[in-house]
Amino acid sequence: MQVAKNTVVTIDYTLTNNDGEVLDTSKGQEPLAYIHGIGYMIPGLEKALEGKSEGDSLNVSIEPKDAYGERDESLVKTVDRALFGGIDKLEPGMQFQAQTPEGIEIVTVTAVNGDEVTVDGNHPLADVTLNFDVQVLGVREATPEELEHGHVHGPGGHQH
Ligand code: ZN
Repeated sequence: MQVAKNTVVTIDYTLTNNDGEVLDTSKGQEPLAYIHGIGYMIPGLEKALEGKSEGDSLNVSIEPKDAYGERDESLVKTVDRALFGGIDKLEPGMQFQAQTPEGIEIVTVTAVNGDEVTVDGNHPLADVTLNFDVQVLGVREATPEELEHGHVHGPGGHQH
């Protein structure tokens, strides 16, 4: 069976940036299982996996526009320390969920200066070219229930 829309694909993967640093890997963990074609994966990786079969390996380099996007400097904002009222120790690198008119956004604190806090709403992997080393471990049809839930059941997925 080949990877196509509404198939469940099980993969082992290692993600590196252009400096060769490992950003994420399934090695040492359970392989990742996902439903293909429903927007779970970044578009560039779905495109590379389309048509592949069990046992195939691939190395793919994905430009930011097909991954987590390019940096948008307008997403860097200075906000009042009071917005973080409940947090005693605010430090660069901390991440928070912010409610914005466009929905939930993850922001990262990049600087704290007295009452002024600088937050960055860009994805941490914005502007990063992603290099994936992927092994396809399995491909099967998704069940109607999995399609309804929008996630995989069983190994590598939800257990319920
Ligand atoms: Zn479910």
